[in-house]
Amino acid sequence: MAKLIDGKLIAKAVRDEVRGGVEAFLAARGRRPGLHVVLAGDDPASGVYVRNKEKAAEEVGMAGAVHRLPPTVTEAELLALVERLNVDPAVDGILVQLPLPKGIAAEKVLDAIDPAKDVDGFHPINVGALWTGKPGLVPCTPRGCMRLIAEAGVALAGARAVVIGRSNIVGKPMAALLLAEHATVTVAHSRTRDLPGVCLQADVIVAAVGRAKMVRAEWVKPGAVVIDVGMNRDEHGKLCGDVDFASVEPVAGAITPVPGGVGPMTIAMLLDNTLAAAKRH
Ligand code: NAP
Repeated sequence: MAKLIDGKLIAKAVRDEVRGGVEAFLAARGRRPGLHVVLAGDDPASGVYVRNKEKAAEEVGMAGAVHRLPPTVTEAELLALVERLNVDPAVDGILVQLPLPKGIAAEKVLDAIDPAKDVDGFHPINVGALWTGKPGLVPCTPRGCMRLIAEAGVALAGARAVVIGRSNIVGKPMAALLLAEHATVTVAHSRTRDLPGVCLQADVIVAAVGRAKMVRAEWVKPGAVVIDVGMNRDEHGKLCGDVDFASVEPVAGAITPVPGGVGPMTIAMLLDNTLAAAKRH
């Protein structure tokens, strides 16, 4: 039976660390770190995500605001808001919630964020910093996965890691982080031949695909660590990951559940990134 990596518990520990850091920042600088979230449009899922982020920031004592814009907002208006936040000294972190309303080029908006305030870590300057080993802001979900792997007590140096998925948000930064810890990294995607065979080689599997229960027991080397980033609905409409937990759990050495694994870590790491940005500010 695999060790269960409890993302809820580990995320709480991260939030507690951040809360302490926020108080120390307040004592030293006379103000609280400020996280500003831009929510454009009326996507219901985005509304829920943003409320969760707002609540989590409040709970650790951060300042900030949610800037709610109507679905009719123009690209120019959005860029003007980002610019205002860029120059505001009380703003340490800026997050533009995706997706943006139709007709707005998300890339243009994200690239307009000051890289020093880019707490999502999506700006090309931060992406470049990550791949060249320079200090910068790192995307929250992969950072969360690394913390879970560390808490599981995995020695990454020399280990074989397979990341399934090559998105800019999860797969690619995850690969960079694993490489930085000296793992031998394979990035698999929809064109990968013999994905089960590739996964079977892995000491660590990170699944970031978006396909319910795709990774099955036959894909997993006994004792491997399995990190499940996926957030899907199964045939009964129940939240599930990219990993078939029931079959993989008896084979793996350690595994994250869905829900309660990677999910809670993403917001915790957003708070940690905001505190880091504030300290460097
Ligand atoms: P994405 O941009 O859609 O990327 C999915 C990746 O999976 C792509 O690289 C794609 O390959 C690959 N893929 C698709 N089908 C495949 C297959 N049959 N075999 C192998 N690879 C395949 O998704 P994402 O934004 O990275 O998110 C991935 C999952 O993580 C989703 O379920 C999302 O909801 C979840 N997620 C969770 C959190 C969290 O906080 N827990 C955060 C972010 C994302 P190609 O590049 O070849 O198309």
